[in-house]
Amino acid sequence: MIDSKAAEHARTASTDEVIAELRRRSAFVMVSHVKPDGDTLGAGLALGLALRSLGKRVHYYQEGLVPRNLRFLPDAEKVSSEVPADLPADALWVFGDMSDTGRAGEKLPPLERQNILNIDHHLANTRFGALNYVLEKECSTGTCVMHLLRALKVAITPEIATCLLTTIMTDTGGFMHSNTTSEVLHLSADLIAFGADREEIANQIFANKRVAAMRLLGQALSTAQLDDDGRYCWTIVDDAMLAACGADGEDTEDIIQHLRAVDGVEVAALFKAFDNEVRVSLRGNGRINVQEAAARLDGGGHFRASGLTYHGSVAQAQGAVREALRAEGL
Ligand code: AMP
Ligand code: MN
Ligand code: MN
Repeated sequence: MIDSKAAEHARTASTDEVIAELRRRSAFVMVSHVKPDGDTLGAGLALGLALRSLGKRVHYYQEGLVPRNLRFLPDAEKVSSEVPADLPADALWVFGDMSDTGRAGEKLPPLERQNILNIDHHLANTRFGALNYVLEKECSTGTCVMHLLRALKVAITPEIATCLLTTIMTDTGGFMHSNTTSEVLHLSADLIAFGADREEIANQIFANKRVAAMRLLGQALSTAQLDDDGRYCWTIVDDAMLAACGADGEDTEDIIQHLRAVDGVEVAALFKAFDNEVRVSLRGNGRINVQEAAARLDGGGHFRASGLTYHGSVAQAQGAVREALRAEGL
């Protein structure tokens, strides 16, 4: 049943409504999703920098650590897994780049909807905020933030530009994915003019690999399987492989893009079997909606990039994922 209040919440907030709320509040907590990427962190840091320039108090909440390759982001050292004890009751919690609050982890204090702003670009966002600035056509949460900053008329400093260009380069795969529209390239050009260093960001987020990550990539690719007449490519990474390579979870980032790049592949899957759960990444090449496939198993994401966490054995996860993909047309 949809009551009028729920329908009101489901509505996408206008840019003017969001900036009015940002102006009204004096304290903010920027919340990024677990296993943070350059979009969730860059969007929160950019908005935080802008709000601080307006004299606001800003905190950054992240359940885990900032990954090694994102510590170059301006203010990354301010990101914390603690909520300040003296936070005012009317602080606005700004969730960036997540389709539901669960993606922020399990350690957040209970929050009232009226204190939540949801800025996102995922499909099937659950509209958990009082205001939901959910722009599914945007390439990154960072470009949603960029629209807000333009409306707020704050100066885009080189630091803000660096955070925002990082969100774009992260979620477009360095301008390679299908979400790299002409508008995205124009926004990126503006950010470079404002002082973002594209080469430095590319080095930080796409190079800078530890040799352990390369060894792990080699193992994961050498054990990859092709199924469904070559349309489905998948591989497994587990704790033993990490240990053998001296790698950790952060060293798994690049693997899936190589699986998707195999000629004829329509869907790629990476099964990460760590700590008694299986985190699955899915990537599609445009025919199969991997967001719908992930949603069948309580995950989510985008048409061409999605993920889920499976509670069970890796063999069970493989079976369930294949079934979900077949239901979506694999
Ligand atoms: P990943 O494969 O972890 O890079 O994630 C790809 C996309 O799927 C991102 O947009 C994530 O936000 C989304 N995603 C990953 N894991 C989950 C999950 N457990 N639930 C919902 N969305 C997810
Ligand atoms: Mn993300
Ligand atoms: Mn994103």
